[in-house]
Amino acid sequence: MKVEQLNVGWISSPAAVYRQGEDPSARIRFPIPAYLIETDDERILIDAGLHPDAIADPASFYGPAAAMFGLEQEQSIVEQVDVGTLTRIVLTHLHFDHSGALALLPASVPIVIQRREWEAAQDDAAVSRNFFYPRDYAAAQDRELVLIDGDHDLLGDGSVELLLTPGHTPGHQSVRVGEELIIGADVGHFAITLDDHRFPSFADDFAAQGRSAERLRALREHGTRVLPGHDPDVLRPGPVAVSL
Ligand SMILES: [Zn+2]
Repeated sequence: MKVEQLNVGWISSPAAVYRQGEDPSARIRFPIPAYLIETDDERILIDAGLHPDAIADPASFYGPAAAMFGLEQEQSIVEQVDVGTLTRIVLTHLHFDHSGALALLPASVPIVIQRREWEAAQDDAAVSRNFFYPRDYAAAQDRELVLIDGDHDLLGDGSVELLLTPGHTPGHQSVRVGEELIIGADVGHFAITLDDHRFPSFADDFAAQGRSAERLRALREHGTRVLPGHDPDVLRPGPVAVSL
């Protein structure tokens, strides 16, 4: 089994939006990762990254609230991955930096997502509370969606497990690969977030996010490497070591 970390681009924003307690005038720039997991039979994409058309003017693509973001594209997902050979797409959650490029991916590839995330994304109040942008996932209505409920053994052999880690969004999920690696996604934007719980200023449910952080922190204490969602000091594109 191989795991490769990709970087699709960068977000710049006020630092306090993504880490409570930061200086309100400070800004932060952080990477947007995606991952490719390859087995003998499968090529699984974890998250799709930014839509290229959102980069130049996020506010005109998504609406005025997106004006606080500066977006940069490193390389879109379709420039980095032979998307025609993907077997599954797993979305950790539906924020634009994870699902934005979904429309560029072949419609024949099933999308695996937590049912509660998908259902929240169809609910107007939940959409606005969670800063979902329906244009990111509207076309997914017509695709094969695999809606799962809770932790899920993706390949049926225990090698890749989706972990329900809600809070950041209603059905946020992380991905365990083998016994040594968890792609934590946005349970903690930064590695230290699992310890200090200085989450972004927005969440679907802060208490649930705290419990999810404790879950991943406990796994980390037992020796599992947990990759944070967007930590510029930790995330590096390239192969990620896993033994299976
Ligand atoms: Zn994110």
